[in-house]
Amino acid sequence: MIINFPKPRLLRRGFQRYKYTRKEYSVMRVRAYRFRAYASKTTARVLKTQLEAACELYNALLHAEQGEYEKNKHTMNKTELRQLALDLRKQNQEFQVLHSQVAQQVADRFYQARERFFEGLANKPKKKKPYRYLSLVYPQSGWRLSNAGEVGLGKNKKKKARLYLSKIGFLPLIIHRELPESQVSQVCVKAYPSCRIHVIFLVEEPETKELASKEPKRAVGVDLGITRLATLSDGRFLENPRPLERSLDRIRVLQRTLSRKRFLSKNWLKTKTRLAKQHEHVKDFRRDLFFKLGALLSQEYDVLVLEHLNVQDLIRNGTKKRRLRLHDSSFSELRAVLEWGFRKRGKLVLPVPAYNTSRECFLCGGINKGLTLEDRVFHCPHCGFTLDRDLNASLVLLKRAGWVPPSVPVELRPIPPLPSLGLRRQGGVMMQEAPPFMAG
Ligand SMILES: [Zn+2]
Repeated sequence: MIINFPKPRLLRRGFQRYKYTRKEYSVMRVRAYRFRAYASKTTARVLKTQLEAACELYNALLHAEQGEYEKNKHTMNKTELRQLALDLRKQNQEFQVLHSQVAQQVADRFYQARERFFEGLANKPKKKKPYRYLSLVYPQSGWRLSNAGEVGLGKNKKKKARLYLSKIGFLPLIIHRELPESQVSQVCVKAYPSCRIHVIFLVEEPETKELASKEPKRAVGVDLGITRLATLSDGRFLENPRPLERSLDRIRVLQRTLSRKRFLSKNWLKTKTRLAKQHEHVKDFRRDLFFKLGALLSQEYDVLVLEHLNVQDLIRNGTKKRRLRLHDSSFSELRAVLEWGFRKRGKLVLPVPAYNTSRECFLCGGINKGLTLEDRVFHCPHCGFTLDRDLNASLVLLKRAGWVPPSVPVELRPIPPLPSLGLRRQGGVMMQEAPPFMAG
């Protein structure tokens, strides 16, 4: 009997990866545990050399494969590519800095890139540039994790560990969350352009079945927007902090400074690092906010109703400022993070077509054709229903998913600043101006 397994679904940025193992007929989920590594200068330098070597190896494989195809019209398979990588490593002094399994994984990476090209999912694999080749993977062996005491006091106590990577050295880590060490299937070490180093452990866990016995009781519709990042159907909203726009002045200055340095000179590299740090700050800020919102929602609700937006279309049609803000809000990432938060807790996510959500009346279902992007309040020409535009949209979403909200919220309330977000100046909880001294 042949069992057709569905294609493993790849979510963006490796939040979750599904792997179907034929032997067990069970769904295994691959989960990533990421820790920051505090490498010494020497180790960081060794890592950099290795990354350069791995990049060279990748390019060598690409070159060899192309030559082979032109000569013999033969496409190499995975095993042949792996063998080729090992042969190249044997012949070249330069590649011997790499651990043999890491070298094979470089071949795997090239193979995957080529497969994606064959499937029409990606462009043809190109020569990689050294400053963009940033990670090494130890698939099975070549690493060892050892305990090295604890850091912090009381509640903040965390495990400290030392990761030994063969041919690289020791990387001290702070294990801030429980890591099922025995189930780790591979280790990836990643150097960011801002000189940060992260270690990512992939752990295979059996998929937790969705809690089907529990009947979902509470549902929330979320409308995504630029002025208000998220408007919930219960009347709460999250102001858009616009992280990129906040940092734009600093980024502009750095970018200008960079352009005045000699390409690839020491000062150019220094400025490049500072610029990368700034961009990373923006990215971290965003993800932190998204994950906190996801945690908040998935604790309170059983079902999440999201609109199925085509952001690309929105971006294509917007003005320059609007495009920037759309990019800055990164709806796709927000959606992915929210979905992940719900799925992790075994809860439901219902995507709903976004067509006309903001123009449809929640009460009678009539369409307000005259509504423009500037109108913040929705007014129904058919039944006279008046409500905030985004709130109406989130209610329409909920209705489309087949849920009836318990009551229509009358007014909007801001979500209080999520902990440690540095968002104290947000929305309605804005610090009020100091009261005037004695009146009169
Ligand atoms: Zn109406």
